[in-house]
Amino acid sequence: AISITGVSKSFGRHKALDNVSLTLEPGSVTVILGPSGSGKSTLLRTINHLERVDEGFIRIDGEYIGYQLRGDKLYELKEKAILRQRINVGYVFQNFNLFPHMTVLNNLIEAPIAHRQLSKSAAIARAGELLDIVGLRHKAQAWPRHLSGGQQQRVAIARALMLNPRVMLFDEPTSALDPELVSEVLDVIKKLARSGTTLVIVTHEIGFAREVADSVVFMDEGKIVEQGSSSQVLNNARHERTRRFLARVL
Ligand code: ATP
Ligand code: MG
Repeated sequence: AISITGVSKSFGRHKALDNVSLTLEPGSVTVILGPSGSGKSTLLRTINHLERVDEGFIRIDGEYIGYQLRGDKLYELKEKAILRQRINVGYVFQNFNLFPHMTVLNNLIEAPIAHRQLSKSAAIARAGELLDIVGLRHKAQAWPRHLSGGQQQRVAIARALMLNPRVMLFDEPTSALDPELVSEVLDVIKKLARSGTTLVIVTHEIGFAREVADSVVFMDEGKIVEQGSSSQVLNNARHERTRRFLARVL
């Protein structure tokens, strides 16, 4: 499980995360909703220590992210150990971030080879399997700029899966796509959800959340306003703030 315990994070005087606690069960799908600036991306970034927390801590399967417990004190890990932890956490951004000068295949195999996680032949084999899953094996030798946005995002998802992460984080994975390309990316994420990977997805696709999420979290002003099953939060929100937000995005 991922446990987020009492996490706060400020930028200057602005509190982007304010005492956030959340537990994500293994294999569960959690959708995070909230208005712009509510701290959704910051929360995802703290989960792989791209953002250092000011207070609280995050553990994945008991292991402190970014820190090591010695005695009763936490000490920040060295860069190398942090990179090793990040292997367990796949991250997919809004804007795909493929390496433009590399083919699709090379985008997938670059990191696992560079970090000596896989031999070249094992990486190529794994890339083939994942390109099958996202329906793009025939594009292995293509350049990113020759792919549609939806195809690029599916490559980015396959790339994030190369190292078998325990958790996949998605930050608005479809918000940069033309509407007709959204469903092909959501379909790939649905497939992952069924495969038992733990997923955390920031999205405004409420229909997707209704269909796929085990748990829905609504954030506002750096706080978790409410969390519950998708039907409870989406159909029966306890808080007026949540209901107002849903009325605007639905
Ligand atoms: P959006 O829906 O627009 O993506 P969000 O919920 O993801 O919003 P965050 O990006 O987490 O919001 O930002 C939360 C708050 O923290 C915002 O007020 C933002 O301006 C601020 N913030 C985030 N990152 C930084 C940073 N690196 N430096 C300064 N302020 C930041
Ligand atoms: Mg964001």
